[in-house]
Amino acid sequence: MTLQPTKLDDEAGRIAALRQMDALTYSSEASFKHITGLLQLILDMEMVSINFITEEKQILKARQGIDVTEMPRDVAFCNIAIRTYDLLIIEDTHDDARVRDNPLVTGPPFLRSYIGAPLTTADGYNLGMICAVGTKPRHFTAREVRMTTKCAKLTMNQLELRSQASHDFLTELSNRRSFVSGLENEMARLRRSKGTASVAFLDIDLFKQVNDTFGHPAGDRVLREFADVIVGQSRQHDLVARLGGEEFAVLLPDTDLDAARIWAERVREQVAETRFDGDNALRLTVSVGLASVDETQTTSDAIMLMADTALYEAKQLGRNRVTVL
Ligand code: GH3
Ligand code: MG
Ligand code: MG
Repeated sequence: MTLQPTKLDDEAGRIAALRQMDALTYSSEASFKHITGLLQLILDMEMVSINFITEEKQILKARQGIDVTEMPRDVAFCNIAIRTYDLLIIEDTHDDARVRDNPLVTGPPFLRSYIGAPLTTADGYNLGMICAVGTKPRHFTAREVRMTTKCAKLTMNQLELRSQASHDFLTELSNRRSFVSGLENEMARLRRSKGTASVAFLDIDLFKQVNDTFGHPAGDRVLREFADVIVGQSRQHDLVARLGGEEFAVLLPDTDLDAARIWAERVREQVAETRFDGDNALRLTVSVGLASVDETQTTSDAIMLMADTALYEAKQLGRNRVTVL
């Protein structure tokens, strides 16, 4: 595909892509360290890392020879580099006006050489760089440059595979596996800090009729729009997932059951008011089961069973309602 240069100016889109790819949560894994380890062997340079640029920071992942885990965005060499699709090559920082006065050059670690290849998504967003830096000036051969580019491609492939494994293809929401892992992280957090969170299971009522009446493709469109309705009612830190079929789950951090019920009623009303699938203007309802997450619970399975049981009760009571166990 052809890359659109305009994506380089779309900072909001870039940040969204960073989040969608789960770049900040996944990149420290062993597979990424194999790539930075490989690049270090190829280039024989002191420091190699995979760096992602967030709104204000550079986050250093899969680090080789570097202890720093983040730094302000404006001092990062990679922040210069993500503005183009080209590699950034600096053979001697002292000869380069862009970085000569950079604090990392004039002070520790006194950087002299740099090579970085952008980490570009399939639709053209530069999430960050894979880069190697050294404290001596040096020349980079054409072969080394090509290999650095290949390492960037490998990094992106790995990131994409990771992202696909944790997202649902149809709605692009998190999938069940990713929901369970998010829930377990939240449980660990609650054990440390006390507090409460809630889990909502949502199941579209009589969804089979949509497929039977309008066909499976219409059903798919409705599922995507339904996902949008839930996301529209959720905060950035809520974890919205499609568990499978027409069943969704939301993890609501820092939310007790009373607040969760208010949230769920709002979603229920919003779903009832929405006309789905364009001209078909389908009307749907949703049933919701709620469960509370606190530091006393031991397994994610137990919490999910509670939410599922509450959901089952909502169906038994006649659908289009919110039930708390
Ligand atoms: P209830 O109110 O009891 O939940 O009734 P329901 O019809 O929603 O539940 P049921 O479990 O009987 O049917 C779920 C339907 O969801 C059946 C299946 O064809 C449909 N479905 C599951 N996954 C998909 C999908 O990815 N796309 C489409 N279009 N339909 C799906
Ligand atoms: Mg259903
Ligand atoms: Mg169902």
